[in-house]
This record gives sequence, C-alpha cells and structure tokens, in this order.
Amino acid sequence: MGTLPFLTDTNTLYRGTRSNAVEHIRTAILHGFDYAVAGAPVIIADGLNGKNVRRVEIQKKHFTEVSIAGDIAAADSMIVLSHFKGHIASGFGGAIKNLGMGCAPREGKRAQHNARPFTIPEKCSGCAACMKVCPEKAICVQKKKSVINQELCIGCFECMHACPDHAIDINWEMEVPQFIERLVEYAYGAVVGKENKIGFMNFLIRITPDCDCSPYSDAPIVPDIGILASKDPVAIDAASFDLVNQQQGYTDSLLTAHHHKGGDKFKGVHAQTDGYRQVQYAEEIGLGSIDYNLVRI
Ligand code: SF4
Ligand code: SF4
Repeated sequence: MGTLPFLTDTNTLYRGTRSNAVEHIRTAILHGFDYAVAGAPVIIADGLNGKNVRRVEIQKKHFTEVSIAGDIAAADSMIVLSHFKGHIASGFGGAIKNLGMGCAPREGKRAQHNARPFTIPEKCSGCAACMKVCPEKAICVQKKKSVINQELCIGCFECMHACPDHAIDINWEMEVPQFIERLVEYAYGAVVGKENKIGFMNFLIRITPDCDCSPYSDAPIVPDIGILASKDPVAIDAASFDLVNQQQGYTDSLLTAHHHKGGDKFKGVHAQTDGYRQVQYAEEIGLGSIDYNLVRI
C-alpha cells in the first residue's frame, strides 16, 4: 500500500473555532484545506474534544512523560509545515514550537503554559480591554480594576498584550525560560518513534511580530525571505532565526539586545523574551543541532 497522507492539527487550549474537531474541520475547509483541494483528509489528531492522547516517555528536566495527540503519535512519519513569526512568550514560533505546542492535546498545552499573569492595580484604569480578549472569561473588572481568576486562566497572555497601560504582567525571569524549556521538551516527545522520518519546512513569509493564534495580524517585521527545508527542527529554526536577523528590518530602531548575529529582531517586539533559548535547550536535550549548512536553491 502506498502512502496515505492526511492533514492534521490539534485542538486549541483557548475556546474558539479550533477547540473541537467539528468546528476545527469546518474552519480548515473555510481556509481551503478541503479534500477536493488538498487530496488528503483533515484529521484532528487529538479527537473530537481533545481526549485522544498518547503518553510518551522522555525523562527530561521538567517532564518524565508528555501527552502527545493520539493520531500524531500513531502516524509513521510527518512533514511539519510552520509559519515562522514572532511570539510573545517563546520569542518566535517555528518548527520547534509547532512540534511542542502543535502536537500536544489540550492537557499537554496546559502543562506547558505554566505562567499566570497578574494585574498591577496602580496601573489599571479599568478600561476592560483585557476582559474583552480573554478567551476563557477569566477576567472581570471590579471597582475599575481588572481581576484575573487564576483557576480559569490558561496562561495565553492575550490580556497582557491587549492592555494599553501595561497593567498586566508575569514574572518574566522565572516563568518564560521555564515555559520555553517545557515547550522544547514537548517537541522532543512529538518526534519520539519517528527518528529520521520527519521533514520540516519553515515559511519565512509575512513574518509578523505575533503568533497566528492572535485575532489580528500586524505588519511584518522584515521583508519576506523564502522557504526553508530540513530534517532537523533545531537547525531549521536556528537558520530561520539568523536569516530574519540578517534582514534590514522595520523594527531595527527598537532593538534592545544584540546577543546574536545582526541582533535579535524578535526582542525588538518582545523585549523580555529570549526566543533563541528554544534552539539552545533543544540542542542540549538532543532534539537536533544548532549548526546548519544553508544551501540556496
Ligand atoms: S492569560 Fe489573560 S487572556 Fe489568557 S486566559 Fe489568562 S486571563 Fe485570560
Ligand atoms: S486592559 Fe489593562 S488597564 Fe484595562 S482593565 Fe485590563 S488591566 Fe486594567
């Protein structure tokens, strides 16, 4: 029997049109991922309500085992297609983030999102912008101050981004490096059993400051670069990161750090997040190699 390809994604942690398989497939079709167009069906890998899960042993610092979407774990091989762009908590999102978050069912996504934001009352004007964007209805505004219900919060950071007064914050030094390491450990778990059977393509096109899960899209931070392909998720993200930073970017005037070739443009938009930690930690735990040889075709 030949290859039997399918298109896949996992349900989101936040509520929306990709948080259950029925609406998720409908959304996919509306975006052109239809059998008649792609010649392959869409299968939501963690099932109707995100409960199709396989535990994968990894024995790493944060997790001894991770939860991977059942149908991704069951697949023999994968081609991982990632839009390379900025992200408030991981600095940037590429192949590693697509593996770590993209292959995790809801319980796995929750395990990675350990940080919970808090309100700084003296800065809060009570405008309710945070309340309007919270996908979990975890925020209410009382006496002109926002209050976050930590039980309902899923740590998506949408509120922090929406607040015009910077009145919502997290403990960046503590929380973000841990979030990045958890994400990378999940990426490691997603490839277990598929060694040498995964291909990665990063699309360095419309490199926006924020993730595609945001309900808006800002202007790109650098001009379009192209498409990268590799068998190594660490090498492809390291190369993507370097290529972005080598561009003459629109955010150059905002740069605050120059710890890597050409400066870190993602730090120009998310100053407190060191996204490069993703590739460093990924190499440390054996997911791949930072070294790459770029062949232009
Ligand atoms: S991080 Fe903010 S927007 Fe996200 S669920 Fe928590 S309170 Fe709501
Ligand atoms: S968006 Fe910011 S200023 Fe407005 S209510 Fe929320 S925390 Fe307060």
